Amino acid sequence: MRKAVFFFIKIGLLVAAAVWLAQRPGRVTIEWLDHVAEMPVGIAAILILLLVWLIMMATWGWRLLRNGPGMLGRRRDAGRREGGFRALGQGWVAAAAGDADIATKSARTAEKLLQEPALTLALSARAAEMRGDAKGAATYRKAMLANPATELAGRRALMQQAMADGDRAAALEHARRALELRPKADWPAKALAELEAGGGNWLEADAALARAQKSKVLDKADAGHRRAALLIEEARQAAAGGRPEAALQAAQAAFDMDPARVPAASLLARLRAKAGQHAKATRVLEQAWRLGPHPDLADAWGETAADQNPLALVKRYEALVAMKPGAADAHVGLAEAAIKAQLWGVARNHLEKARELAPSTRIYRRLADVQQAERGNGPEVQALLNKAMSAPADPRWRCTQCGTTHGDWHAVCDACGAVDAITWPKATTR
Ligand SMILES: [Zn+2]
Repeated sequence: MRKAVFFFIKIGLLVAAAVWLAQRPGRVTIEWLDHVAEMPVGIAAILILLLVWLIMMATWGWRLLRNGPGMLGRRRDAGRREGGFRALGQGWVAAAAGDADIATKSARTAEKLLQEPALTLALSARAAEMRGDAKGAATYRKAMLANPATELAGRRALMQQAMADGDRAAALEHARRALELRPKADWPAKALAELEAGGGNWLEADAALARAQKSKVLDKADAGHRRAALLIEEARQAAAGGRPEAALQAAQAAFDMDPARVPAASLLARLRAKAGQHAKATRVLEQAWRLGPHPDLADAWGETAADQNPLALVKRYEALVAMKPGAADAHVGLAEAAIKAQLWGVARNHLEKARELAPSTRIYRRLADVQQAERGNGPEVQALLNKAMSAPADPRWRCTQCGTTHGDWHAVCDACGAVDAITWPKATTR
């Protein structure tokens, strides 16, 4: 708009100048070769103006001829890109909505219009997966590996596919490469640790978690908790493989990372006792017991005693009860020791205490045993056994991922493969 105003002002000034000149007397003579032209000054000025205008028009026309097609092409390209991006967006929305048809169509349109695999491969792979074309999806994802911008996403999808197919070696390779690519991304280290743990490579799994902790992908408490789980398994493996030193070292490391973890404390105590270090074993169990009583700790308390004489065991359990009188498991432990020492009164006494604190099937069964040992089979025994049937079941280790119960704790749930998911359902203290 301003340009146009200036243009008219310029034209006006020129015309005014020409008129002013035309009104002045005088003539202009132009001699060119043999021709001589003579005219008034005003006419000459108008002719010059006309010439300038013609040159301007010619320049504008030339520019339009030369750039015209490019300009039109650029506009067409912009239109294609816009269409491509629209298709890409529609495709992802369709994928999120579970519409395989629209996702596939949009992916194809975006591919054609954008011609940029980095932007469209992931959608094409997702669409292929949604219409059940696993091979096609894998092909797109392998193509994603060729581009640094899409490699990590491709690795992740291929790793998940390999895990679903049970191809651990391939899954491991993708996880390792992803971790190299992006050490600060949170999934590769976690996935690597789970894969190594799933294969029983406890030390490799631990190393992956240590790396995750170092690069702050996992916070210290979380990493410590998980690493303790792996180290317990490593300790078990070493103990079973006749490497007591390695077993002790791993169990100690697990206990140091997570002293409240019952399997770590009970294993460490048992290993220490086996190595003749009974006092150390007792200290480990005391520390763990104060953090949270547990039937497995109560069992280990008796097993790790230097003196296995029944009366000595009764005394030892009295110390455990004294530490936390409200812990039912200590009373049960003491009762078990008393049964071995045939101290029926003491056994019944503590079983009753335990029953008051936390009644369970196991306690009624032991009460029936004591009754039978002391007074023979009678209606009281049957009554106690009936109560055992209807009493609350004893707590067991349970996988938080799949709900399967386990007789013993494991770092990996053998039912669903979850790592560090098996927990004790509730506290035994009241
Ligand atoms: Zn499970």
